[in-house]
Amino acid sequence: MSVINERIEHILTEVLCRNAGEAEFHQAVREVFESLGRVVAKRPEYAEDGLLERLCEPERQIIFRVPWVDDSGQTRVNRGFRVQFNSALGPYKGGIRFHPSVNLSIVKFLGFEQVFKNALTGLPIGGAKGGSDFDPHGRSDGEVMRFCQSFMTELHRHIGDKTDVPAGDIGVGGREIGYMFGQYKRLTDRFESGVLTGKGILYGGSRARTEATGYGNTYFVQRMLATQGDSFDGKTCTVSGSGNVAIYTMEKVQSFGGKVVACSDSGGYVVDENGIDLGLVKEIKLVRRQRIREYVRLKGGECHYVESGSIWDVPCDVAMPSATQNELTGGDARALVKNGVIAVGEGANMPSTPEAVRVFQQAGILFAPGKAANAGGVATSALEMQQNASRDSWTFERTEERLAEIMHRIHDRCAAMAEDYGVPGDYVLGANIAGFVRVAEAMRAQGVI
Ligand code: GLU
Repeated sequence: MSVINERIEHILTEVLCRNAGEAEFHQAVREVFESLGRVVAKRPEYAEDGLLERLCEPERQIIFRVPWVDDSGQTRVNRGFRVQFNSALGPYKGGIRFHPSVNLSIVKFLGFEQVFKNALTGLPIGGAKGGSDFDPHGRSDGEVMRFCQSFMTELHRHIGDKTDVPAGDIGVGGREIGYMFGQYKRLTDRFESGVLTGKGILYGGSRARTEATGYGNTYFVQRMLATQGDSFDGKTCTVSGSGNVAIYTMEKVQSFGGKVVACSDSGGYVVDENGIDLGLVKEIKLVRRQRIREYVRLKGGECHYVESGSIWDVPCDVAMPSATQNELTGGDARALVKNGVIAVGEGANMPSTPEAVRVFQQAGILFAPGKAANAGGVATSALEMQQNASRDSWTFERTEERLAEIMHRIHDRCAAMAEDYGVPGDYVLGANIAGFVRVAEAMRAQGVI
């Protein structure tokens, strides 16, 4: 092992010990550190002045009680988090996740990823993440509203349009952002539109923000396929999930001539060889807020629903995991490779396990890691902040054009970095190094912060 790698290994061990038991955070840090040997070999100063140690230590971590009253009058208590990870490049920026699995490790892993993702966009935003172990499934509108109000009653003192700008993530969409924005406004007596992104268009939201993560991932994969002289046209695609990211991934893939044959939710997956009827998925998930199994009942015909097993058993040319972390295992990756997958674009954050990533890379599959491929959501959030700051509102076309440009630029930056470091086509390395260098340079310029 080289001296550089030994030094990095030593710092990594210290970081993991300091954050004992935080499995997801460990996974995210380890993945980035695996790419750093090459960059530190060229630029040893990046491993000096505790830069790597500081990069792994959030600037601030807030954990708070969220009490609320359910429809039966019973008092409930959840735990709220906001991890303000790094502000070297701009105000903290990152989503809020409401899901029963949320804990400090998950919020830290997401915040850590967000730092590099946001850096990759080239826009002036730092990284953060927040959330709660609250489960919105099966809760009435009134319960969700009271929960959001209580969550914001504590969170409001830690955020602001120039300090920390949250947005949505799993379990937090336009409805929840609306309730939180309303409460922020009451508490502060300010119409500070730039304090949250993902708002409704009527009160300061950006057009194309809802579509941005899914569209952005598709633009990234389109560019990646183009490096091989290929395109989405005529390709079969599998998109896991059926939330915001998945729905707008399917929409863009279809508009590029691809055929989506399967999508899922946490209960199971639907296969429709004739191509998923997106209008129906939108009706089920966005309007009725029902389970994806309803698809088969409403559509009829040859489609079918599978409750056990894995969506990745369905043969496809392009796989776009858009549900949640570690949803695609080494075994799933081997099944995809065996069935001839040519490209993978991660719509979710860290959906492929480290083993799955290795399988894809060893098989020479085009693999786009989430921190690059799903950056379109947060990039469009930054465009929303820009519109709010200038009291402007752009057309859908103008916003989508900026999004496409940003995604293509991220792709090219990752590809060029991988090439520079002698591993052409390694988007994992390219994304980690390109994101890292921007943050590291900004931190070094600002002294020991
Ligand atoms: N939750 C999204 C992400 O993982 C968006 C964050 C934002 O728009 O601030 O990047």
